[in-house]
Amino acid sequence: MSLLFDNFSSWKSYCEQNAVPLFQPVIAYESEQKGSNEEDIWTGLGNAYAVMKEAVHTGLTEDMNSRSGMVENGGKKVYNHHQTVLSNDFQKLVARALAAKEVNSCMGRVVAAPTAGASGILPGTMVTLQEIHNLTDRKILECLLIGAGIALIIEKNASLAGAVGGCQAETGSAAAMAAGGIVYALGGSIDQVFNAIGITIQCMLGLVCDPVAGLVEVPCVVRNASAAAIAYASAQMALADVSGVIPVDECVMALGEVGQSMEDRYKETAQGGLAATPTGRRIAKKVLINDIDILPDSATE
Ligand code: SF4
Repeated sequence: MSLLFDNFSSWKSYCEQNAVPLFQPVIAYESEQKGSNEEDIWTGLGNAYAVMKEAVHTGLTEDMNSRSGMVENGGKKVYNHHQTVLSNDFQKLVARALAAKEVNSCMGRVVAAPTAGASGILPGTMVTLQEIHNLTDRKILECLLIGAGIALIIEKNASLAGAVGGCQAETGSAAAMAAGGIVYALGGSIDQVFNAIGITIQCMLGLVCDPVAGLVEVPCVVRNASAAAIAYASAQMALADVSGVIPVDECVMALGEVGQSMEDRYKETAQGGLAATPTGRRIAKKVLINDIDILPDSATE
């Protein structure tokens, strides 16, 4: 039987005992769960990465105005802005994460990795990683497999859904998936990969889910960009052996505990946080009126 992704310690022991890279047990798990062969898994991953790249491209080249008016071509604005606050690569990272997420908010095609709300983070981070370090597609697909293993463990011990664990569970998990992949791709050890995941969780811990008007737009779009930046910051620290001190499995426990203790108004109900601000409520009312206006007469009778 393949490794069950119960926790990070068992994943590490399995890889060390069998002298296999981190992505190998994820393939075995996928094969066993879905009955697919290895070649099909690589093909599926390739297709998923193609959709991620396409989302980045679409967000940077096509009109990204959402029906609510809250999303207004943010990715393109950042990409084309004349000022860089850090470096051109950082500007592109932020622009790409925004762009891919905006495609989701504008009802385009994305990969929910791990959720649609967090669908800009892996595209933004992986496309940028590949470009900066001149990596092969195969290396990025290995990162995606490792990301899948990370998500499996978080799902088992905490949650991946904003409605269950707040935004920390959604964008936080995506950022952790990205951070682990970045460190792996740059030659980090298993401990460094897992430390990057733990640091990322620490940085995202406590983030509430408070989407304005219940739409996955504000703050979701900007959080995808900031989560992408946190993934890179965590990877940079982990590669330099800055310890997160709390082991990654315990960070996941904390994620679950914080998620459980969150009030319902911070779990995608649009009753708290930014959704409950005067502006958030005003937008919610306007969106509702617009929706009623476009309903066919029979639906409002
Ligand atoms: S705020 Fe909620 S809906 Fe938006 S990305 Fe975060 S978890 Fe998803």
